[in-house]
Amino acid sequence: MNGNTRPSPWTTSEAIRTYASGALWTAGLVLVFVVGHGPDQAGWWRIRTDAAGWVFLASALVGGWNFFPKGVRAARTLRLDMNFLMTAAIAGAVLIGEPLEAAAIAFLFSLAELLESSAVVRARHSIDALLRLAPEVATLVAEDGSERTVPASDLRAGERVRVRPGEKVPIDGVVVEGQSGVNQANVTGESVPVAKSVGDPVFASTLNTDGFLEIEATTDAGDTTLHRIARLVREAQSKRSPTEQFVQKFARYYTPAVTAAAVLVMAVPPLLGLGTGLMWFERGLTLLVIACPCALVIATPVTIVSAITSAARHGVLIKGGEYVESLGATCAIAFDKTGTLTLGELEVTDVVPLGDMSGDRLLRLAAAMERRSEHPIAEAIVRYASETGGLREDGWTVEEFRAHPGLGVTATVDGARVAVGTIELLAPADDARRFGDHFDALQRAGRTVVVVSRDGVPLGLIGLADALRPEAPGVLARLRREGVHHQILLTGDQNYAARAIGDAVGVDEVMAELKPEGKVAAVREIVRAHRGAAMVGDGVNDAPALAAADVGIAMGGAGSPATIETADIALMADDLNMLPYARRVSQLARRLVRFNIAFALGIKAILAVGAVGGFVSLIVAVLVGDMGASLAVTLNAMRLARLKPRQAGDPPRGDHVA
Ligand code: ADP
Ligand code: MG
Repeated sequence: MNGNTRPSPWTTSEAIRTYASGALWTAGLVLVFVVGHGPDQAGWWRIRTDAAGWVFLASALVGGWNFFPKGVRAARTLRLDMNFLMTAAIAGAVLIGEPLEAAAIAFLFSLAELLESSAVVRARHSIDALLRLAPEVATLVAEDGSERTVPASDLRAGERVRVRPGEKVPIDGVVVEGQSGVNQANVTGESVPVAKSVGDPVFASTLNTDGFLEIEATTDAGDTTLHRIARLVREAQSKRSPTEQFVQKFARYYTPAVTAAAVLVMAVPPLLGLGTGLMWFERGLTLLVIACPCALVIATPVTIVSAITSAARHGVLIKGGEYVESLGATCAIAFDKTGTLTLGELEVTDVVPLGDMSGDRLLRLAAAMERRSEHPIAEAIVRYASETGGLREDGWTVEEFRAHPGLGVTATVDGARVAVGTIELLAPADDARRFGDHFDALQRAGRTVVVVSRDGVPLGLIGLADALRPEAPGVLARLRREGVHHQILLTGDQNYAARAIGDAVGVDEVMAELKPEGKVAAVREIVRAHRGAAMVGDGVNDAPALAAADVGIAMGGAGSPATIETADIALMADDLNMLPYARRVSQLARRLVRFNIAFALGIKAILAVGAVGGFVSLIVAVLVGDMGASLAVTLNAMRLARLKPRQAGDPPRGDHVA
């Protein structure tokens, strides 16, 4: 079903035929009640003299028109699809003079199809509802400072808009004036307003709560983060999950098998002289109706689409059903340290000169090099250097700069080869003893230690500290309660610093001093050992490790388009609390998928036995086995929408199903 462009399913011609069929069927029932059936004659002839019979026939034709053509086409290509099965069942029912049943099948099957398409279409479209949350007009600021109200859809990158308290931000941009708390729930799922001031990014459709903001647009109107989310969700919805593929394969055997059983039921008992041919023919028809795999086939996609959509509405972008299924199943999660379990906002705590270069000069040499790097360590060193005495370069000429991921940076400074980074970068297989006690002392204090060296001679050490994310220990404990029993910390940082963080958050295992390839290998090993694993990290630096996991999860997607693109699941908020929510949605979806499939199969099995035994009529088969089962499966999937992320201040287990 390509539901994106389809209008409301309730007003299509199929829908109208369904209503008409239902009305005629009801009219037929009233007629039967008031005037009764015509004279009792067997077979098709009974209908001829029966007013109600004609009405039922009309109902069957009108409702059946929705699928007769498809059914006939399927029959011609010898494909046993549900349209063919239902067409055959209706034809059979008319043939044996059961117009009421024929009409019931036509009407109820049409109704079931309608309900299914509406459920899927609604789930798909609720992502467009997200786009409708964005405001329609914006207050544009002209060159001369005057204001003009324009349609928000006309805004272009570079234009300035004003947003008053209580108004929604019309476009992605940066604050150029003012400050305010902005509720970003529409984009990130966090309900607590985020403080915004000059230089901070803001997103279309978020709510400006209490201040006045002037914003310079950074995107065109059709290209906002919200649009990107909607686009990715639509793509995700159209991918088939592994279970969906499996069920479709299964249906390819199920339907012919039950159809064959139906033919046998029609033919064999009468040949053996058991009961009348008419009786067995009707039981066989009932089996034909049961052979229709509708509820079974819809069970998975309706649940997965529902999971993806409701997660997106809470700021968790899942880029395909397969990730819902694998995150729901996994009991192992690997975490990157810097920026994931820690805030990634490092601070320089110690500068220890080892030779005759002063601490101040050492710091500025490091800063001169690190200005070219984007690593959090580099940012911290540059920031600290500029805070303590300005960023003079002391006339250094930095040439041949190179960043070595997981190791540090090197360059030629005034003809000498300078390295800033790990010991390994300074000299492979070197050891820390030549730094005296300083190195050990810093490490034992949980610091990340960076060595600055020139031509292989250590000049000094820089110690940095990173703060734990306050929510991290709670989130990991929660995940453990909910079945993630293997939690592993992966980092390029040194053992001590890694262990300090690992102990503080409570992971099971710490794997430190890993280079980027080492992280990939470690993730592969974890995936193998636990038959599947997720990895949470930084979507940019950890992209290879994220790709090596079954599910790569990155945080802070709202601020980083690259993160959204590389991760399998992007948490729009920079908040670990969204992780247990993402897992809960996935876990519930997985359970619902399994339950729904078992339920649909169970119902069919019971009905099939009943049909052969003569306890289940055609009407019951289509009412319960088709419409009822589809409806139950769909309603079940809607439970996902009621799952909400835990918010600050909620009771400890606040994201249970309401
Ligand atoms: P993490 O696994 O914590 O994200 P990385 O793999 O990015 O860490 O880096 C591992 C180690 O490499 C850091 O702890 C640091 O010692 C060193 N390093 C990496 N980049 C730099 C840099 N730009 N400057 C100094 N040291 C660096
Ligand atoms: Mg990192």
